Amino acid sequence: MRLIDTHCHLYLEDFDPEQDELAQRAKESGIDALLLPNVDLTTIDRMHDLCDRYPEFVFPMMGLHPTSVNSHYIDILKRTESYLSKRTYCGIGEIGIDLYWDKTYLREQRIVFEEQLRWSVDLNLPVAIHTRDAYPEVLECIHKVGAERLKGVFHSFTGTTEELEEIKKLPTFKIGINGVVTFKNSKLAEVIRQTDIEKILLETDAPYLSPVPYRGRRNEPTYIWKTAEKVAETFGLTLEGTVNATRKNTLGLFNSVNKPL
Ligand SMILES: [Zn+2]
Repeated sequence: MRLIDTHCHLYLEDFDPEQDELAQRAKESGIDALLLPNVDLTTIDRMHDLCDRYPEFVFPMMGLHPTSVNSHYIDILKRTESYLSKRTYCGIGEIGIDLYWDKTYLREQRIVFEEQLRWSVDLNLPVAIHTRDAYPEVLECIHKVGAERLKGVFHSFTGTTEELEEIKKLPTFKIGINGVVTFKNSKLAEVIRQTDIEKILLETDAPYLSPVPYRGRRNEPTYIWKTAEKVAETFGLTLEGTVNATRKNTLGLFNSVNKPL
């Protein structure tokens, strides 16, 4: 069994000085790829640095996170875009709309999200979408740019049945499931049972959202196994069946990640 963590931020300062130790531990646990979404201009060098140390293990994405969008967005977006021609990325991320923390820049968040969706179309890359309190807005942008031209994952999906129904109408989109599914008070397992394992990718979102029994502590890629176990239980599948199915989903979407099925 080989797992891929489709969304983690192992390059962040939260992991200093243990990045290498954690990468090693992840490998030893049976993880053979980590997909790293970028946050903003301040995180790019750290992310590239980690990728240069583990070229066949760690795969970067490029993008501007919605909570980093402000009035300087035009310049920031231009500088973010300039990286796309400089090296290979497995996706555009993480991008989206977040209205939970702040609604001040909603207009700017939409512009930035749509522009990055267009990059993904031009480069034929999947997108890793962050959406918080903003499903209608995110879906509107996707349909505006053209859902049939896009593909990607709704990372850290914690939506309702109704929101899941909307995503099910988008055949080229998956949902990313992380530690939230293991939380005692979460309805997420019930919600995702309304879809098939073919729709699911596994992720940690480390350093955030550690699964039970590590809840409240700093998350790390190896903890993804706890989420895999819970997803297996949710769908009534074996752990191996779950790992293989979600791996196939991952490699089908992020098809530049060169790993055996
Ligand atoms: Zn993230």
